[in-house]
Amino acid sequence: MTVTTDTATTSKPLGMPVREDRIRRYVTAFCPRCHDEVPNRPLHQVPRLSGYLSEAEEQVWLVRGCPQHGKVVTLYEENPGILSYLEQWTAPTKWHVPDTPGNYDPIPAAYLRGLGEMQTQHTCILLEDITQACNLRCPTCFADSSPQLSGVASVDNVLANVDQRLDRENGRLDVLMLSGGEPTIHPQFAELVERVLERDVTRVLINTNGVELSRNDRMLSFLASHNRRVEVYLQFDGFKRETYLHHRNADLRAMKQRAVHRLSGAGVFTTLTMTAALGVNDDEIGDVIRYVLDTPFVGGVSIQPQFGSGRSGAINPLERLTHTGVLERMGPQTDGLVTWRTSPPFPARIPTAPASAT
Ligand code: SF4
Repeated sequence: MTVTTDTATTSKPLGMPVREDRIRRYVTAFCPRCHDEVPNRPLHQVPRLSGYLSEAEEQVWLVRGCPQHGKVVTLYEENPGILSYLEQWTAPTKWHVPDTPGNYDPIPAAYLRGLGEMQTQHTCILLEDITQACNLRCPTCFADSSPQLSGVASVDNVLANVDQRLDRENGRLDVLMLSGGEPTIHPQFAELVERVLERDVTRVLINTNGVELSRNDRMLSFLASHNRRVEVYLQFDGFKRETYLHHRNADLRAMKQRAVHRLSGAGVFTTLTMTAALGVNDDEIGDVIRYVLDTPFVGGVSIQPQFGSGRSGAINPLERLTHTGVLERMGPQTDGLVTWRTSPPFPARIPTAPASAT
């Protein structure tokens, strides 16, 4: 555009130029750099920031404005098209009962008094961490678990918690996940599972690394005897030695295969859970999906991009594997057998809540 004056003709632009990004929506956010500097600050002192999701360079970015660190940017999703597709899926959500009536404290401090009034989701999966201890010490463990830890939740405490949540959920829980640490090394694991099954809990998932299941016949028979309501959520990261060295610091391939064969042979319904990282095992997504499809009683796969929490090392916030990145890799890696279009998201409020490939 040209601007004409009495004395000369210049070619200055008139008005503001167009942004190079497109704002998808505005969000409330927190600053990861503030968190790194003071990780244990009291929750009511955690600053809530203005932010937005912005589309640029064919990716989606989370941009927050921090008074201390300025603009802090993270790659939010790799594929804006898949994100838009996921955002079309919505489902009615159930009512929830706040733990403390009148708790309108802002998040995150609100969680100090349980689920607050402004919590808009009910408990769809109740997660109970029943022990801090684990028989592995994975370098990417976000729970910081290890054989050196010994904290164990008592059966009575876990059940009291389950009962309280049952009360909030009008008497029925869809899914209870027992996790840790490694739940199968809890000294009263079998008793705990049996007492949970006395309650109105539709499915109990055991979130396990598979070490015990690969060698403990008694535990396998126990799970098989409850296979109508108890399922296994088995950590399974792929088939390459390097994959296990990165995620688990040991070559666990033989143990994982043994665990899968034993569970499948015993008729225990199993979901494989793959931790995936860019440049480590994001090229194994298709192989794991094919393995799931070929293995009886393995009914699903959950592919979770590694995130940097707990013992997990820092992840490059600008170049990382994301949920839509997992979904876009599925088709090419399975020769079109399973694609993001054939994997609708769960009926959750968050569009990138797991897509299902079952
Ligand atoms: S990631 Fe799982 S298996 Fe590994 S140390 Fe943590 S709890 Fe144990």
